[in-house]
Amino acid sequence: MLLTDKVCLITGAASQRGIGRATARLFAEFGAKVVILDLDAGQAEAAARDIGPGHLGLACDVTDKAACLAAAREVVSRLGRIDVLVNNAGITQPLKIMEIEPANYDAVTDVNLRGTLYMSQAVIPQMRAQAAGAIVCMSSVSAQRGGGIFGGPHYSAAKGGVLGLTKAMARELGPDGVRVNAVTPGLIQTDITGGKLTDELKVEIAKGIPLGRLGVADDVAKACLFLACDLSAYTTGAVIDVNGGMLI
Ligand code: NAD
Repeated sequence: MLLTDKVCLITGAASQRGIGRATARLFAEFGAKVVILDLDAGQAEAAARDIGPGHLGLACDVTDKAACLAAAREVVSRLGRIDVLVNNAGITQPLKIMEIEPANYDAVTDVNLRGTLYMSQAVIPQMRAQAAGAIVCMSSVSAQRGGGIFGGPHYSAAKGGVLGLTKAMARELGPDGVRVNAVTPGLIQTDITGGKLTDELKVEIAKGIPLGRLGVADDVAKACLFLACDLSAYTTGAVIDVNGGMLI
């Protein structure tokens, strides 16, 4: 199978309907040993149990560099290696430009961008030692078109930063055998978006999407699977849109 015995860390994968959880489930189906990292240890462990036996759930706040380093150390001591990291943890705040206070900017930038840097820094030494690894970073269509329904301008900026960081890491780590790519989801029905979408709004939004529907978490998980496994062996620094054609 595509990910047999690969140790795959996914941040922000505890949320039941989230992209991270769908990715964890799909990776497990393809043979991975999945490590779910999220804010709450109990929820991370429950999510790991939910996808099947042999997976791990650990508490890790990606905004805390020491916590990221500790999580990576624990994974290596328990599972011996780290093959894949999906930097999925993220938060949004639906604010307009003049509503953004310093605390808003810090919170959104910390989870989406700083967290991507810290968690990547935590796994890179192990991937370098293995001379192999794949990092997948979760950006957003908000980075490409400047805003959306749910993310504010600071979210667009942070997710744009994720694209720059992805390319810089891909350039630096390529010679070490480590690939780094990004996914830019469009509007995906998860807890971030789900509860706030009325049926009328969904129909209205779908009219602007060539494939005629909103995305589901599995749509994004499949792109992560491609970028995590050898099917994308010659792909690094790439950005894959999963948005139903929203930007055409
Ligand atoms: P979600 O809210 O369902 O999941 C986010 C997860 O991140 C939660 O489990 C949460 O506990 C976790 N998290 C938050 N702060 C954290 C921290 N500091 N450390 C560790 N974990 C933390 O959201 P989702 O819709 O599944 O989004 C997943 C990713 O996809 C995010 O990066 C989001 O910005 C991005 N994205 C989502 C959409 C969409 O339409 N849903 C579109 C584009 C991009």
